[in-house]
Amino acid sequence: MTQNEAKGKSASIDADVMRAAMGKKRVPAGLWTKCPQCQHVMFNKSLRENYSVCLKCQYHFVVPALERIRQLLEPKSFHEINEDITTLDPLKFHAAKAYLDKLKQDQKKTGLKEACITGEGKIFDFSVAFGVTDSRFIMGSMGSVVGEKITRLIEYALEESLPLVIVSGSGGGARMYEGALSLMQMAKTSAALSRYQNAGYPFISVLTNPTMGGVMASFASLGDVILAEPHALIGFAGPRVIEQTIRQKLPADFQTSEFLLEHGLIDMVVDRMNLKNSLKILLGIFSALEKEKLIGDGCFEKNQ
Ligand SMILES: [Zn+2]
Repeated sequence: MTQNEAKGKSASIDADVMRAAMGKKRVPAGLWTKCPQCQHVMFNKSLRENYSVCLKCQYHFVVPALERIRQLLEPKSFHEINEDITTLDPLKFHAAKAYLDKLKQDQKKTGLKEACITGEGKIFDFSVAFGVTDSRFIMGSMGSVVGEKITRLIEYALEESLPLVIVSGSGGGARMYEGALSLMQMAKTSAALSRYQNAGYPFISVLTNPTMGGVMASFASLGDVILAEPHALIGFAGPRVIEQTIRQKLPADFQTSEFLLEHGLIDMVVDRMNLKNSLKILLGIFSALEKEKLIGDGCFEKNQ
């Protein structure tokens, strides 16, 4: 963003940015962000301290996977598993750019090896198997690596008797660079979840902006409890495709968290600053259910 853009008519400026501007002739570029919804200008540090939620209008910015881990898990409690799985690019896919080049580009851009991170950590006192996708990495799409990592995380949660929490953010759904191999991940992750849930263990799915396509059509929509951040775009096909198919105009808030809450697909819309506490409350409820032998055994006994 340039300073000229920030001087747009409707822009308001964070007090920290204003002070810095008055103390110096120029506010250094790269230190501040303009909200795409209300045009408010904030220091990146202020924005980060506010959970990457706009200080003025509560717009929820996209959160990188590592930042999400920092927000939700106890400091230094997370250890990653299966971090070195990489794609073999079996189709040798080449469109505008070769798939492997695109991977390298996004690895450099995000500092991640792939579009998801999985492992074990703690939310307050609760040990959980935790996964998070990053929508900045090839749109958070699920190729064979993301599908394999999510599946192995579910299997790890089953073996270790851990509750499972996955935070999804994917504008891409299935990764088309891998064709049918990416579509197979939908069945694979769903089958693993079926085994996990048949053991009576709890899965909490958290949907963030955006969660679309094959991710939403598989593991992301299979939570025992499904939470979503406010105003997140959540769905399968995009609205234009649906309108063309059914030849009807869709409601203005179609495919938002609030619309899907009203229609029963998700259970709660939770502000990001309340997300960790909401997870704690839900894990506490599941723990109480386990004591009453109403869900599978052993998930919470190590926390009691
Ligand atoms: Zn805003």
